[in-house]
Amino acid sequence: MHGTHTGSDLQAVKTTALRDGDHYVINGSKTFISNGSHCDLVVVVAKTDPSQGAAGVSLIVVETGTPGFERGRVLEKVGQHGQDTRELFFADVRVPVTNLLGAQEGLGFYQLMEQLARERLAIASVCAGMAEAAVLEAVKYVKQRQAFGRELWKYQHTRFELAELKAEVLSIKTTVDHAVQAYIDGNNSPDIASMAKLVAADKGVAVVDKCVQFFGGYGYMMEYPIARAYAAARVNKIYGGTSEIMKEIISRAM
Ligand SMILES: Cc1cc2nc3c(=O)[nH]c(=O)nc-3n(C[C@H](O)[C@H](O)[C@H](O)COP(=O)(O)OP(=O)(O)OC[C@H]3O[C@@H](n4cnc5c(N)ncnc54)[C@H](O)[C@@H]3O)c2cc1C
Repeated sequence: MHGTHTGSDLQAVKTTALRDGDHYVINGSKTFISNGSHCDLVVVVAKTDPSQGAAGVSLIVVETGTPGFERGRVLEKVGQHGQDTRELFFADVRVPVTNLLGAQEGLGFYQLMEQLARERLAIASVCAGMAEAAVLEAVKYVKQRQAFGRELWKYQHTRFELAELKAEVLSIKTTVDHAVQAYIDGNNSPDIASMAKLVAADKGVAVVDKCVQFFGGYGYMMEYPIARAYAAARVNKIYGGTSEIMKEIISRAM
């Protein structure tokens, strides 16, 4: 978790975990945390040495029952209403020094880099599934919806658009499969996971947007799954590292 003034720039984290005898005293907050309502153990990204950048970052485990830990309100998101995103607050939260993850302080940034690649592959996989499901829903709909006396599917424009989207979904899935296979084979390079997330999120969101169009006005009504998919999709270009940050990571390996 990073402080409220930090987002993409992880090493600028404001939350601190300062040593006091055999304990760390944690102070700070984190604005967006998925499933914050249910968690009972959180991994906090904090500065154990605030005078340093990346080298001062550590990961520390906190049980949510610890005094000083508080959950903020459930944030009102554009989509994904079946799942909560909450703020978390830490005010003089004391945890034993043994709650530090890893052999020594200052490894947090590197631990994050390793784990974030995995999270990005997971998000990329979700995007591939989301895009595929949107195309399937659209095909189902245009085969039964009539306009000007024929099913929408009978119009060449509809079929060509959906044919293109189906091909696009295959290209997303192939990219994600490639990156996941590399990970399984032991290649956890951040740029490979970032390429998969960039492609799957940007293209996946575009596919869902195009699918909404086949539904006409119904595509804008929340009772239709395609409308909920549209609202849910957008954040994939933002969380787990934004598309811009993915480009930053990819370019560093060029
Ligand atoms: C629904 C939701 C759930 C979330 N869940 C979690 C969670 O469980 N755990 C967690 O840790 N975080 C979570 N997040 C946080 C998420 O990872 C951040 O929102 C995201 O990394 C972007 O940070 P930011 O919002 O502070 O945007 P900022 O970092 O302020 O970025 C704003 C804009 O500036 C751009 N930008 C920033 N730096 C650069 C640069 N160097 N070059 C070019 N452009 C740049 C960004 O790409 C973006 O477009 C969640 C966010 C949301 C919306």
